[in-house]
Amino acid sequence: MTLFDARQLTWPRTRELAEAGTVALLPVGSTEAHGPHLPLSVDVVIAEEVCRRVAARLSRDVVVFPPVAYALTDFAAPFAGTVTLNADVARQMLEGILRGIVSGGFHTIAVVNHHLEPAHFRVVHEAAKAVQGGTARVLVPDHRRAPTGPLLGHEFMHGGSHAGRYETSLMLAAAPSLVNVAAMKALPTLEVDLPGVIKGGAKNFLECGGPDAYFGAPAEATAEEGERLFTIITDATVASIEAALT
Ligand SMILES: [Zn+2]
Repeated sequence: MTLFDARQLTWPRTRELAEAGTVALLPVGSTEAHGPHLPLSVDVVIAEEVCRRVAARLSRDVVVFPPVAYALTDFAAPFAGTVTLNADVARQMLEGILRGIVSGGFHTIAVVNHHLEPAHFRVVHEAAKAVQGGTARVLVPDHRRAPTGPLLGHEFMHGGSHAGRYETSLMLAAAPSLVNVAAMKALPTLEVDLPGVIKGGAKNFLECGGPDAYFGAPAEATAEEGERLFTIITDATVASIEAALT
């Protein structure tokens, strides 16, 4: 249905939309290093693009709130430009934003998070749970989980879901002007089982064996693959929101 950008709405129009059962979407990303070929804004760009695609497909109108561009991002902290918040600050910020949206009268809010650091995703789930209640449903569609995660490919599940083929393909589809294609094509594949080394105690991307803040195979990324991945993510996000609306 129709996408309304909260940055362009007045408060009376926002109230009208909330009272009409419009769904609120909150895109969440981070400001963090994504290899030498992608900008710091990758997670925000992807989250906003998913919101646009979800709005086009959903059976209700949608208000997209301004994105959350800062997060807990300890793994990329050694790299210039990364801004990390501690877990308490990040949780309180997200809770505050979600409470603000709920107090405006929205009953269904979906947090569209595309910063996948496990500790951060935990914070997102915790903040949503804290605000959830009464007439407010705060959903956190989680595309890491089955059945969606495995559809996103081996690299996503077991390798470089950070600035590799997966994220680079999404960026080529959503914002190709932000991808340095020459730098991307020059990057050798870096096979690291990121979930495995994180479980093993690695605390940042350097300790994970990623000295340039990327993993996987960015050189293999294509816009076509990005389109395919966006469709899978959008399908899953739409399904989880529609399930809550019925
Ligand atoms: Zn990312």
